[in-house]
Amino acid sequence: IRASGEILFKDVESSQIITCIQLALRQSQVKEQQCLSMPFQDGSSGKEKYEPEEKLLFSEDHLQPKQIHFSSSSDDSCVFQSEIDFRFKTYAPPAFDHFRDLFGVSQQDFLKSLCSLPLRELSSSGASGSLFYISQDDEFILKTVQLKERRLLLQILEDYYQNLKQNPHTLLPKFFGLYNYIPKTSGNKNIRFVVMNNVLPSALKMHWKYDLKGSTYNRRASLAEKMNPYPTFKDLDFLEHFPGGLVLEEKTYKALMKTLERDAMVLESLKIMDYSLLVGIHSFDFASQEKKIIQLEMNESELKQRRTRRKLVAHSTALESIEISLDELDYEAPYGGIPAKSRNGDNLIVFLGIIDILQSYRLRKKLEHTWKAVVYDGNTVSVHRPEFYSRRFMDFLKSSVFCDGSQAITTNIDTKS
Ligand code: ATP
Ligand code: CA
Ligand code: CA
Repeated sequence: IRASGEILFKDVESSQIITCIQLALRQSQVKEQQCLSMPFQDGSSGKEKYEPEEKLLFSEDHLQPKQIHFSSSSDDSCVFQSEIDFRFKTYAPPAFDHFRDLFGVSQQDFLKSLCSLPLRELSSSGASGSLFYISQDDEFILKTVQLKERRLLLQILEDYYQNLKQNPHTLLPKFFGLYNYIPKTSGNKNIRFVVMNNVLPSALKMHWKYDLKGSTYNRRASLAEKMNPYPTFKDLDFLEHFPGGLVLEEKTYKALMKTLERDAMVLESLKIMDYSLLVGIHSFDFASQEKKIIQLEMNESELKQRRTRRKLVAHSTALESIEISLDELDYEAPYGGIPAKSRNGDNLIVFLGIIDILQSYRLRKKLEHTWKAVVYDGNTVSVHRPEFYSRRFMDFLKSSVFCDGSQAITTNIDTKS
């Protein structure tokens, strides 16, 4: 961060990153047909919109990036005019086009969301130093990723989307694109990023936010994080704030657990670990107290409209993501959140999604584990084999985070009688 407050990422100003990305996304779609710098080897010219058969979407050729150039000085008709010189790569374009279709997001809507207004910077609490941006309509998040994360995403792309297609009810992240922005000025630095769905609606205040892994070792938000106006808390904080967990209605509980079990299994089979469940909690009781103090800027009808607005991305609200048919429910859920109660009976609404899944179990992790296991209790360190990781993740969610309301009521009656 500069003294002026401007954020730098790999020595490039954040505002420049956004400008170039938006420019490139617009151009790469608009002029896609005209200037393919890397024509496919199957002989397609790229003159018409090219849609390979589904089984070919993930072939070596189609995973390759398409690259476009931007320059202030070149006359080459395939180089776009821009004040800033840079290159821009779009990975696996046919595969991601296909996924966007699957989630009902048209090319036009996708670009409108990402390019028509400036992206908002999100302050992230990740230790990895990634940058996060959110689209103004709240639908999409851009996250910078490392080379090994980009590699992993391309490796798992086919399995990942086969699963997504079979099980649209999932809390796994949905990736809508993978890109690389290469500013010329700074000596071929790669700013790689993914576009994914946003889990937490920003129009609704999250009174608590947790990043849960099921590990207890060092899983408490730092003091600095707690000073943040909207801190992201961790596992140990959750246990303290919500002893007894979040009580859900029976059907919702079962649907959520079924979905989480399957998602954890998928990640385990892909040898992925270190992911988290991101949980945002809004308290109606807190909100109604706050409303008395703060005059709300939006009027009721405006608010209602926002609350019930259909999301652009299909199956993307918390309720739509779990294995439940909305007709089965007898409650209305603002922003598609999941209704819950705390053990004190506070009325809550919960938003959630699995995030940060591009970490795979590799040799480096193995070494790290062996070393840490010697130093600390091997069971509580959050670097473990994928099977162990997923089991511990689920055990924690079941035992300490969510509970079945019908069971909870029975227990209450038991203690009273
Ligand atoms: P690290 O690897 O150190 O854990 P990271 O840079 O990979 O960090 P993430 O763990 O992906 O970052 O995310 C950091 C924070 O950003 C999360 O705790 C959450 O607050 C926010 N965030 C990430 N992904 C999303 C998403 N899809 N929707 C909403 N918020 C998100
Ligand atoms: Ca993380
Ligand atoms: Ca990470």
